[in-house]
Amino acid sequence: MDFDMLGLAPRLIAELKSQGITDPTPIQAQAIPHAMNGRDVMGLAQTGSGKTAAFGLPMIDMLLKEQGKPEGKTARALILAPTRELAKQIQENLAAYTTGTHLKTMLVVGGAGITGQIRKLERGVDLLVATPGRLIDLLERRAVRLGDTKFLVLDEADQMLDMGFIHALRQIAPLLATPRQTMLFSATMPKLMGELAGAFLENPIRVQVNAPGKAVDRIEQSVHFVAKAAKTDLLLELIDKHRDERAIVFGRTKHGSEKLHKLLTNKGFASASIHGNKSQGQRDRAITDFKAGKVKILVATDVAARGLDIPEVKHVYNYDLPNVPENYVHRIGRTARAGAEGMAVAFCAPDEMGELRDIQKAMKADIPVAGGRPWAKDEEEAKPKRGGGGGGRRFGGGGGRGGKPGGGRPGGGGGGRPGGGKPGGGGGNRRRKPNKASS
Ligand code: AMP
Repeated sequence: MDFDMLGLAPRLIAELKSQGITDPTPIQAQAIPHAMNGRDVMGLAQTGSGKTAAFGLPMIDMLLKEQGKPEGKTARALILAPTRELAKQIQENLAAYTTGTHLKTMLVVGGAGITGQIRKLERGVDLLVATPGRLIDLLERRAVRLGDTKFLVLDEADQMLDMGFIHALRQIAPLLATPRQTMLFSATMPKLMGELAGAFLENPIRVQVNAPGKAVDRIEQSVHFVAKAAKTDLLLELIDKHRDERAIVFGRTKHGSEKLHKLLTNKGFASASIHGNKSQGQRDRAITDFKAGKVKILVATDVAARGLDIPEVKHVYNYDLPNVPENYVHRIGRTARAGAEGMAVAFCAPDEMGELRDIQKAMKADIPVAGGRPWAKDEEEAKPKRGGGGGGRRFGGGGGRGGKPGGGRPGGGGGGRPGGGKPGGGGGNRRRKPNKASS
């Protein structure tokens, strides 16, 4: 199949061709015809699947057909994304797809001066890509109004929920034109997504490329059961074996990630870090250096790394396990892009057994053990519980660890097989009913 079969305008197809984009990806082949028919679309797809073009091309096509121009302080289409990095990437892609047309794209995100954004918005814009917080700021300052906006895209919607943008979305959506066309894309479909779709989409067509919660088969996953204090040495040992290959190391906190990045640098590994304490300029530089191969290791928190299109990452290290199981899927999705093979290594300290169980449950599979053995219940409990964890457990694995740990045998019965093929199945030791809607 090629793009003209999807009904896109020939000039758009010609432009795509000149950029080497000739065959639609599966999510594009599925979503574009429906979007062109004006349907609301709910797409389950990860970054790297070509989803930006899946929602962008039909929108561009329709804006070109309408031939209109935006009035001052208006946007004809609005794309919301959770992070600055993702928003920037989307805007860059849309700008590339609109090359040679009169359509204007614009990015409004926090961390950049607002005055320039206000001035630019005065002329109006065709495709506005924004993070919710900054958009609300601009709306409050009356720098933009959305009454003419007929297209809305919510990208990485699960992450937007996770980051608490639901109130912002509720505030923004009613300001748009009626009727409007809405497309929602998400890498996972937690339970709350149904509600979100119900609130913002009308009779959406559902398209998906990967089964929810199912990681790409090409990713070789493994878990090391390792004491917290031994994690750094293990990481150094593992990355030393693959010095020339790009790796992302995921930490849970900003401080922990920064500390790790500094330690890696001290040990002679070219690394960079991205997390909430870094300025936009620092984050951009880190990504650029990483893409260019100047640094081989990127230490990142979930929020900062979400949605980034970083090609050819061979290794993902889950230095800390995420407390939201869906984030594990996102993390390992950074590897094995475009047919490449990838490795995802998880480190599990005694107090992370709960996280591991939740992850395995969400994945509907156990992660093969590469080192150590699953921690037994008494080892787990000997460690202090993590203090609150920042309340991030918004929709992890059906309400997380509310369930009593009692019942099953601790630590996953068959655990005494270090390095063995099948792990001792940590997931089985809780009697909680699986929450079907959550994966
Ligand atoms: P996305 O998932 O939208 O972030 O896209 C990932 C990358 O794939 C971007 O760099 C796109 O330019 C590229 N891309 C999107 N669609 C296609 C396609 N049909 N063929 C080849 N590359 C594509």
